[in-house]
Amino acid sequence: MIQKVLVANRGEIAVRIIRSCREMGIESVAVYSDADRSAMHVRYADEAYRLGPAPSTQSYLNIDAILSIAKKSGAHAIHPGYGFLSENADFANRIREAGLIFIGPSAEAIDAMGDKMRARALMQKAGVPIVPGTSALAEDEDEIKKMATQIGYPVMIKASAGGGGKGMRLINNEKELINGVRRAKSEAQTAFGNDAVYLEKYLLEPHHIEYQIMADNFGNVVHLYERECSVQRRHQKVVEETPSPFLTPQLREQMAQQAIAAAKSVNYSGAGTIEFLVDRDRNFYFLEMNTRLQVEHPITERVTGFDLVKAQIQVARNEPLSFGQKDVKQIGHAIECRIYAEDPTHNFVPSPGLVKHISEPLGLGVRTDGYVYEGYEIPMYYDPLISKLIVWAPTRKAAIQRMKRALYEYKITGVKTNIAFVQKIMEANDFVEGNYNTHFIANNFDFLMQPDSNCGDCEDIAMIMAFLDYQNKQNKRHDFARQRQTGQSNWKNVGRLFRHNPY
Ligand code: ADP
Repeated sequence: MIQKVLVANRGEIAVRIIRSCREMGIESVAVYSDADRSAMHVRYADEAYRLGPAPSTQSYLNIDAILSIAKKSGAHAIHPGYGFLSENADFANRIREAGLIFIGPSAEAIDAMGDKMRARALMQKAGVPIVPGTSALAEDEDEIKKMATQIGYPVMIKASAGGGGKGMRLINNEKELINGVRRAKSEAQTAFGNDAVYLEKYLLEPHHIEYQIMADNFGNVVHLYERECSVQRRHQKVVEETPSPFLTPQLREQMAQQAIAAAKSVNYSGAGTIEFLVDRDRNFYFLEMNTRLQVEHPITERVTGFDLVKAQIQVARNEPLSFGQKDVKQIGHAIECRIYAEDPTHNFVPSPGLVKHISEPLGLGVRTDGYVYEGYEIPMYYDPLISKLIVWAPTRKAAIQRMKRALYEYKITGVKTNIAFVQKIMEANDFVEGNYNTHFIANNFDFLMQPDSNCGDCEDIAMIMAFLDYQNKQNKRHDFARQRQTGQSNWKNVGRLFRHNPY
């Protein structure tokens, strides 16, 4: 029985999970750090409990504190969201030992897939193609050189425990190799507490294409098609779409079958993602499996019509999947843009702070998964994701048009955002033509950084709205009478704003 779920996360994903709980008639329990007292997930949940100080090591990563709140609140199950403890086998084990339900796969599956080298070995055994590479690198320098020559340069050194785009190093020739391995090992030790590294062939112009999997505890495994995630900056996804414009129907089906085989090989249960790299000749290779809900899951929900969080909870309740493979159709086209509080003009440095004004796009085919409201202070302690903007339309072309329209409507002031940057992605020829790979952002960087001609006017309007709002509050609070006497008006200030603002 699951009648109450504790959500061990924050931000947009906590809100997303709480929404499905409410729709299913399940009570939700939020946990929050001191920086999140007035966060949206705290407001939307049925109950909320303080976890600890702002740093995540003392709050969202504190297993003891989360378990004690679960007990206190009478929650039956814990949903980990993504990030934080979502791929921590110890967390899954501790939850089960406490007699509660972990909404996710077995600790064994998390463990097996959490280690890149172990996952590669398992996939090889299951007959799933993997990126050509080695197992753990030995100490012998000549041996390492021999292995790299066999694979062929360029090669990538990867940390077995790596993740989130970290722990990868590109090596172009033998000269860079040994020093690179040494550095990679010490970086891996510092970042992940595990210095195991291995070599992988560096694929040229690859696509990152991943498959959504849902599996129950009765041996049913279905795929919900692919997501094209090749629009990346520093190996991190920025825009995702489905279907992938790169796949042929035949390849789509072949990859789907391999994704199912991969999930079956670890007796997978719940929602998971099998990531592949596809080279320019359309050879595909297993990259890794993520044993949790992905950031980009809404585009899959949009084209298939299934609520993945609901399906996760049903599986955790030990119910069989409510749909079979034949029920899963890929209808129309969906795109997601990740909207961040960051400054593209200063190397995308995070831009936390007070959100003075926010107006999110609405209208036909638009979904925003966010958590930020006017007057909210985006904390500096966590990922600066503001929201995910998802659009759906019957065709890819119409979906791009819709995304451009939605981005045009999206206004946020107070913090810097990447809205203009993703707007430019929607205008870039390579993206519009569906002719792009993981180097798209690097290859189009100058174009993407040009000021956005589309947004100028509405930025002004948003500025004015925010400014008027601010002025009104100030006036109410302080010296409205004095301002009137001195003839100062909001509109005068707006005029001044125009003269001094380079928008
Ligand atoms: P992480 O687990 O840190 O997210 P991944 O192994 O999933 O790392 O890789 C992230 C991204 O790095 C991929 O989507 C791709 O752009 C790039 N990448 C990883 N491995 C290779 C490779 N062998 N060749 C080319 N690009 C790669």
